[in-house]
Amino acid sequence: MILDIKQYGEPVLRRKCDPVEEVDTDIRNFTQDLIDTMIDAEGIGLAAPQVGVDMRIAVVDVAHDPECVSFFKVAGEDANMVDFMPLIFINPELELSGPREADSEGCLSIQEIRAKVKRPTIVKAKLPQIDGSVLEIETDGLLARAIQHEVDHLNGILFTDRVSTTAKARLKRQLKDLGNTKWERR
Ligand SMILES: [Zn+2]
Repeated sequence: MILDIKQYGEPVLRRKCDPVEEVDTDIRNFTQDLIDTMIDAEGIGLAAPQVGVDMRIAVVDVAHDPECVSFFKVAGEDANMVDFMPLIFINPELELSGPREADSEGCLSIQEIRAKVKRPTIVKAKLPQIDGSVLEIETDGLLARAIQHEVDHLNGILFTDRVSTTAKARLKRQLKDLGNTKWERR
């Protein structure tokens, strides 16, 4: 099922999401809806609050660009990144390292804006799966960035919060307008 994607200004995007306590049929179905909605919107990631659900669940898929990471490890062993897409995560835990680098980001909930965001380049993540197993991955590049962006959503943080002070000043007006109009219309 394709879900409605919430837009900037909707309060659910600012909520710190609750951990999932038990992965039941509802959670499994919801995770599939999240994947379907991400694909339908041609996004590379989507988090539960973006469809109005304040639970710690997100999905990422960067299979369209196998070259977007320089390495991908599962449980410490080199693996083929594409085989693990779409990446599902429930109650994810991240460990960030490496130098911080700036790159352009966008968001399905803030479609009018793209801006550069500085983030650590390497992510080590424990990603509980729907079957109860835990996928331990380590990667960099666009995938590391997308995972951090989605986990930020689970904490009510948007990429526009993380842009430079100068860029923030430039975006302020645009965001204010988005915040005022977008969800009043619904
Ligand atoms: Zn986003």
